[in-house]
Amino acid sequence: MATATAPELVSVNPATLERVGSVPRTEPREVPAIVAAARSAQSGWAAVSSRGRADVLRATARLVREHADEIADSIVAETAKPRTEAIANELYTAVDRARWLAANAPGLLADERVRFSQLHLKTKKAWLVHEPLGVVAVISPWNIPFAIPFVQVAAAVAAGNGVVLKPSELTPLTAEWVPRLLEEAGAPPGLVQVVQGEGEAGEAVVADDGVAKVFFTGSVTTGRRVAAAAGARGCPVVLELGGKDPMIVFADADLDRAVDGAVFASFLNSGQACVSAERIYVERAVHDEFMRRLSERAGRLELGREVGPLISEEQRDAVERLAPAARPERDGWFLEPTVVRGPLADEEIFGPVVSVEPFDGEDDAVRCANDSKFGLAASVWTRDRAKADRVARRIEAGMVWVNDFGYSFAVGQASWGGVKSSGFGRTSSKHGLYECVRVKYLDADRGRLRPAWWFPYDAETESALRAAFDVLYGEGVERWRAAWRHRSELRHLLRRSR
Ligand code: NDP
Repeated sequence: MATATAPELVSVNPATLERVGSVPRTEPREVPAIVAAARSAQSGWAAVSSRGRADVLRATARLVREHADEIADSIVAETAKPRTEAIANELYTAVDRARWLAANAPGLLADERVRFSQLHLKTKKAWLVHEPLGVVAVISPWNIPFAIPFVQVAAAVAAGNGVVLKPSELTPLTAEWVPRLLEEAGAPPGLVQVVQGEGEAGEAVVADDGVAKVFFTGSVTTGRRVAAAAGARGCPVVLELGGKDPMIVFADADLDRAVDGAVFASFLNSGQACVSAERIYVERAVHDEFMRRLSERAGRLELGREVGPLISEEQRDAVERLAPAARPERDGWFLEPTVVRGPLADEEIFGPVVSVEPFDGEDDAVRCANDSKFGLAASVWTRDRAKADRVARRIEAGMVWVNDFGYSFAVGQASWGGVKSSGFGRTSSKHGLYECVRVKYLDADRGRLRPAWWFPYDAETESALRAAFDVLYGEGVERWRAAWRHRSELRHLLRRSR
């Protein structure tokens, strides 16, 4: 194993930087053996009942609580984000997810009986069965270094899979908590493997034939590269990519709440959140007042305590490059929270910069919100619930919050994922769990009735099947008339079925 050079990242603790730099990096040629090791642990795990797996997740939730302070230490040391955010966005999310999965995965993954209303299939018995995929890959970014890998790995494990986790090279130590907690909770050793390193380590994971599906969270460019590489060998992917999320503020909104919400949505994690509000549209009547209050409120945020630094020099430079019109002020590793009049280019800035523009009425609000190649999340702020619902349903996004922002990331039952360039597939909720399984249709015929449509074919059978078509699929009284009219053909089919 080679040793990575220390990345240019921020840390409140120089000792952490040294440890991050000395994390052994996985060589791409080592990946097949790592995938195989996960696979061998997974075969036993798949045989554990879903209730047994739920017990492990319940214990994992307890361990997240027991180790909460150490995990938060690790997040803060690697990202220098405010500790409040490490607690509220990462620890809450992890515990909630482990508990939700423990309580709900057994029911959601139980065999589902298929019911037949079709007369000719009435004697059938069948189920939809949920099978684990095998070993899946989770490739995750640095901005939420604990909760993102945790929720995706936990769902995969709850569904009976093994996992190869490739965290960002900027946050390798925090990611190591995920397998550690699961193993301490009773998951088989080696079920969750961690591959450390940069892009080429991720590439090797995506290329490995032993990986049955890739859950990728990161930028649009890398995500598309990953999807192309996985697609070339017929491997499915879930892509959780970036956004350029709109916030729609109507004149009848509670402006204090909307301004507070806007400050939080735009500058949480220094704007390094996939669902950061980057475009705020305010109804013209209150636009100037909103702009004034938002700028004043943003100016009062405290660097360090409320707004952390950018994760790396590269990231800080990228924000400055993407938002040249906004000219965010630099203060060492920090960029000052910046509010500008829009529009800005339709590119994800991923930093503490937000634009504000006026709109006129509902249709214009919807047009503004949808005027982007991205479609991750959005929020609508108004006291009129019916209007909020109308507008929210017309917005092209995976999540739309009304008078709130972002909370559903921490909620197991809420789906997560984007549309358009923001990706496809879902993590979280029952839909996220179903991404982790193969659905098998399982039949259980006793073999007593011979299907009437089997060989041999003859003219009588052909006309009898034609007649039965009207009987089986006819509507209302027509159906019964057809049954009477075609009774001799139906008798022919019954004879063939014995
Ligand atoms: P990147 O796309 O740069 O990296 C994501 C992960 O992919 C990292 O682990 C990275 O490794 C790895 N990687 C890089 N190249 C390859 C490759 N060729 N094959 C396989 N894996 C590779 O994203 P960032 O880490 O910069 O994260 C920021 C982005 O993530 C933003 O666009 C943000 O919007 C998005 N995001 C989306 C979320 C969502 O839920 N939709 C949530 C959070 C973030 P390494 O870092 O070591 O290079």
